Amino acid sequence: MALRTILTDGDPALHKACRPVTNFDQRLHDLLDDLKETLANANGAGLAAPQVGILRRAVVVVDAEDNMLELVNPEIISQEGEQEGFEGCLSVPGRWGVVKRPMKVRVRAQDRDGNFFEAEGEEIVARCFCHEIEHLDGHLFTEHTDRLYTTEELDQMMEEQGE
Ligand SMILES: [Zn+2]
Repeated sequence: MALRTILTDGDPALHKACRPVTNFDQRLHDLLDDLKETLANANGAGLAAPQVGILRRAVVVVDAEDNMLELVNPEIISQEGEQEGFEGCLSVPGRWGVVKRPMKVRVRAQDRDGNFFEAEGEEIVARCFCHEIEHLDGHLFTEHTDRLYTTEELDQMMEEQGE
């Protein structure tokens, strides 16, 4: 396992559509292991292969039980409701925006050996599924918001809300 460098906005790899994974081999397993290690190191909620420069449809997402789910060739198959909240991205460090997402999503994906499975996420996990799967089509959350806030502005707003 190895830490990989997380690319930041402006890198062309973040704006390209990724190809499906067709070989469920050691190389894919290494990629998924590295994504998990890199995500844990960055203390994030999700990471997509293109964020480390690999244009393949693979993501890792932290679920409600704090486990890292590996999703290969993921697709959202159903969604329900709506939520609006602050969102950030390891590829857009120090910037936050208010983004509307479904409250609940169901995803179909393959595991590292190619077996299909379905997973469901609500609230933050639903947000994360949507955000990471979007990365696979070259999209960033910044496309869904008119205004980006700095971490200081976000902290200030959270403090005011807490009072
Ligand atoms: Zn992201």
